[in-house]
Amino acid sequence: MKATVYYAPGDVRVETVPDPTIQYPTDAIVRITHACICGSDLWFYRGEEEWKPGWRTGHEWMGIVEEVGSEVQTVKKGDRVLAPFAFSDGSCEFCNKGLQTSCVRGDFWGATNDGGQAEAIRCPLADGTLVPIPQSVENDDALLTAILPLTDVMSTGHHAAVSAGVKLGSVVAVIGDGAVGLCGVLAAKRLGAERIIILGRHESRLEIARHFGATDEVKSRGDEAIAAVQEMTHGGVTSVLECVGNEAAMTTAIGIARPGGTIGYVGVPHGSGHNFNLSRLFQQNITLRGGVAPARAYIPELLVDTVAGKLDASPVLDLTVNLEGVPDGYRAMDNRETIKVMVRP
Ligand SMILES: [Zn+2]
Repeated sequence: MKATVYYAPGDVRVETVPDPTIQYPTDAIVRITHACICGSDLWFYRGEEEWKPGWRTGHEWMGIVEEVGSEVQTVKKGDRVLAPFAFSDGSCEFCNKGLQTSCVRGDFWGATNDGGQAEAIRCPLADGTLVPIPQSVENDDALLTAILPLTDVMSTGHHAAVSAGVKLGSVVAVIGDGAVGLCGVLAAKRLGAERIIILGRHESRLEIARHFGATDEVKSRGDEAIAAVQEMTHGGVTSVLECVGNEAAMTTAIGIARPGGTIGYVGVPHGSGHNFNLSRLFQQNITLRGGVAPARAYIPELLVDTVAGKLDASPVLDLTVNLEGVPDGYRAMDNRETIKVMVRP
């Protein structure tokens, strides 16, 4: 089969690799119908994250089950399924707490595990990982495209909103206009936020943010952005969604939080050391909560709303490539020509 393999920074290739096979009775083999390239894939693509030549790439995928191991009970051959960006057993202490990303037997796709930017994949721990897509969806391409972001960015945006304590009537600020930030706007809207301020500067992305429910925009950065939000909210916002992961974004988040407010942070921390001003967090009793999103915990509820047509994050997928087009997709994302790429193997 064909799969995407990492070679070096700026160099990923689509190559013929052995077909995936059942190795444990808890495995499933899935033929991939939809996958994505993610902003977090750019860390190894840009050489900002250590990766080894030969490692597989891609952590967002959906497909059709082709084969299951003898112990798999929740899915069968022919089922259409989606997977969160990490696999998990669904039965350990952490899975039972809804923290599947800390599963004692789980791991993330790609690297030494199979990756989703491929024709097929071996899914370990299928019962704890895969979520069946209702048959009613069948081949509805628009609906399937709306479901795809649940594998990562929509679940991550939702995790930011939940971690920031967004509820009915909340005043919210979202830092970052990438796919996760835009999904954070959509998640805050879904949880009943009354006012949603997006901090970003790319017009095409701000347009999507408005479509997702943003009520205000702040295009400036740093101290200027902090002052602007403080002024327009008379003292800061109760819920901040930090959807970038660098020091500047965290500093801004701390600066725009209202005393007693909460910052939900989900951006993968990157860049040199994270020195941020704890004293304001301390003085104003600002809560910092979040981390890697346990997408498996959120997918069932988000799937219900997506299938019901109440949630649709697909506008963030603004470029589609086939499998051979994956290297071009990486280049387009690296050059910020696209928000997020959908792959149709
Ligand atoms: Zn577990």
